[in-house]
Amino acid sequence: MARLSDPITILKGVGPTKAKQFAALNIFTLEDLLCHFPRAYEDRTHFVAIGDLQVGEPACFRAVVMNTPRTNHIRKGLDITRVQVADHSGRLNLVFFNQKFTTEQLQYGSEYVFYGTLSGDYMGYSMTSPSFEKPDSQPITTRRVLPVYPLTAGLSNASVLKAVRQALAICNPPEEVLPPRILEKYNILPAEQAYRIIHEPRSMEDVQQARKRLIFEEFFVFSAGLALLRASRKGKTVAPYQKTDLSPFYKVLPFTLTGAQNRAIAEIAADLQKGTPMNRLVQGDVGSGKTMVAAAAAVLAVQNGQQAALMAPTEILAEQHFASLQKLLAPLGISVALLTGSMTVKQKKEIRENIQNGAAQLIVGTHALLTDATAFSNLGLVIADEQHRFGVAQRAALTSKGTDPHVLVMSATPIPRTLALLMYGDLDVSILDELPPGREPVDTFLVNESYRPRLNGFIRKQVAEGHQCFVICPAVEENEELNLKAAEVWSQTLEKTVFPDLRIALLHGQMKGSQKEQVMTDFAAGNADILVATTVIEVGVDVPNATLMVIEDADRFGLSQLHQLRGRVGRGKSKSYCILVSSNKNAETVARMKALCKTTDGFKIAEEDLALRGPGDFFGSRQSGLPVFRVAGLSTDMGILKIAQAASVEWIETLGTSQTPEAQALRKRIGQLFARSEGTIN
Ligand code: ADP
Ligand code: MG
Repeated sequence: MARLSDPITILKGVGPTKAKQFAALNIFTLEDLLCHFPRAYEDRTHFVAIGDLQVGEPACFRAVVMNTPRTNHIRKGLDITRVQVADHSGRLNLVFFNQKFTTEQLQYGSEYVFYGTLSGDYMGYSMTSPSFEKPDSQPITTRRVLPVYPLTAGLSNASVLKAVRQALAICNPPEEVLPPRILEKYNILPAEQAYRIIHEPRSMEDVQQARKRLIFEEFFVFSAGLALLRASRKGKTVAPYQKTDLSPFYKVLPFTLTGAQNRAIAEIAADLQKGTPMNRLVQGDVGSGKTMVAAAAAVLAVQNGQQAALMAPTEILAEQHFASLQKLLAPLGISVALLTGSMTVKQKKEIRENIQNGAAQLIVGTHALLTDATAFSNLGLVIADEQHRFGVAQRAALTSKGTDPHVLVMSATPIPRTLALLMYGDLDVSILDELPPGREPVDTFLVNESYRPRLNGFIRKQVAEGHQCFVICPAVEENEELNLKAAEVWSQTLEKTVFPDLRIALLHGQMKGSQKEQVMTDFAAGNADILVATTVIEVGVDVPNATLMVIEDADRFGLSQLHQLRGRVGRGKSKSYCILVSSNKNAETVARMKALCKTTDGFKIAEEDLALRGPGDFFGSRQSGLPVFRVAGLSTDMGILKIAQAASVEWIETLGTSQTPEAQALRKRIGQLFARSEGTIN
């Protein structure tokens, strides 16, 4: 027997080339392979007579070959093979492209099983490149429910099928993590069966059972993990804060706080006086003023003799927070420091010394602050800005550091309730549901290419009035296939041909940290009129003078992402606009974007987005900090989530100490899940 941890290269047919292709799907071991679940299934178990085939509907049928296949060589690289087959109900012409070798094995007079899609019109019917097998062969492409796997360039579904089949033959599927009691109570398939069936189902009903089991397992493991995390924190005690006088802070503020801000601050102050570590999420739409809530928390920490760390997801944002917080808090005698990866070694050394000896009281940086060599004198409060990139894994890492700081996470992504339960199941929540007064909603329009001249005119007008514009493109390099306007190319076009007289800057994720920072600082200082950027600017960037957000190929973005991008304008006193440019005519896509034009309510948009796209896309690719659910769809499988959560609560009390094989396997699995959900930082 092979082990799950063995590399997939022990499989026949998986050499270095295949291994590389699998690696692109994050598949390295047999376990990875068995956890690479089909994204869909084709039910090829039902047979249809040739006379009953329907145009456009794939089906299986048995038929006898009526002539010897004939191949015509049309030109270099194009061979067409034709053959006629028949059953009792009729005849059908089959056409194959460049399959001379296989199709010429079809023997005149023999019967085969085919699977394909009928095409045709009044000129007659035919079928292009159906799969076929002998009726007595092992069912591989016909007579079965065929799993359809997520693939990557060069890797065919057939290769994955073959590899999975071998793997199932030489090793046992991942071990059981659910106690027998729960399998029975909730009528759930055991792990071994579920893993086999999901890859080799006999029927679609089978698939449903196996899926249900695996979804249950994912949610169960995750909920149990969160519960363990919460339980481990509950037992901790810290010194309650004695001083909670924020009046000096209120005095230096240039404005009065909103009711929502005050409520959140009061909730935080109450947490800090409790004597157990705070774990709170502040959730508020873009522009709701989360930074001030964070600042208040930091003031309290410093007042009580502790250091506070504020972590931003990007260096740009860390820079900005540092600049505004230093200005705000220096008059209160609080020393604010900045630590980022792109500083010189000497600078870093000096700042680290100040952090270690306690001279620096509020330290702003990226999340590298926690992972690198930085030693704090007395770290009491960790604030993570833009929480969706600061996942459960990082929170778990914090607690395991042993210092048990208070944790405050801030998210600008309005998260639908169901999802919030998953992401923040271990947190208390404060909601900022109020914007500072005087904010005018950003007017949003959807336009297509025919508006280009007017759009260019509009950009000019904004610039002439002394304002600045963002132009967002989906990717950096030109993608010919999709014909997307890559940031780099688009910025050149604008610079050379459209606005040669305007100052155009470029910002994208592949630039070095220090470069990005320079561009952003320059733009914020008004040294460019138009900033062409990828979504690196999505998070948090504050340039109040920018009044126009143009989003090219807007259909490529998720609604929540568009909403975040739109939040980059409308931060100053002038009326702001967001123009979504898209020539996509798909009715659903258009409806999605129009929804954005109608509402500025982030929660409504988020609900809609989640329902439409599912959580992976919901946050943009892989930056969610959400655990990676391989089977479960968060918009469709919420029913199972609730049950699994309840089940994990029943089980959790004994889990910590239980020595049953499932309990041990479950603890191991929880560790892996949190490690895998590591948020990515760009
Ligand atoms: P968020 O991080 O929630 O998107 P910020 O904290 O960046 O929002 O605040 C957005 C802008 O609103 C900033 O320029 C900030 O100074 C300002 N602001 C915050 N709170 C208030 C308030 N109560 N009244 C007026 N302006 C405020
Ligand atoms: Mg912010």
